Amino acid sequence: MSRDRVRCVDCHEPIAADTRICPHCETVQPSPLVDVGVAVAGVFALVFGVVLALMTLGTTRLIGFLLLVVGFGLAVGGYTRHIDRQAERRAR
Ligand SMILES: [Zn+2]
Repeated sequence: MSRDRVRCVDCHEPIAADTRICPHCETVQPSPLVDVGVAVAGVFALVFGVVLALMTLGTTRLIGFLLLVVGFGLAVGGYTRHIDRQAERRAR
């Protein structure tokens, strides 16, 4: 698979990186802006989770830890995808 081909988010068929709609299943591919939004939302969830986990006890603390883990995953996932797409774009 060459660098300017990505996999469809839905059917995982290889498609061109700049294709907005998958030719196989017609799913609209997410834009890089969505990745940034996901990363920002993740950072907010992470910070809120840390505050909850440190400042509260019991169930709220548990929710804080959950937010922390989910937020971290979203932030890292969104950021990594954003970087990947930028690298793909630069390679062409
Ligand atoms: Zn598809």
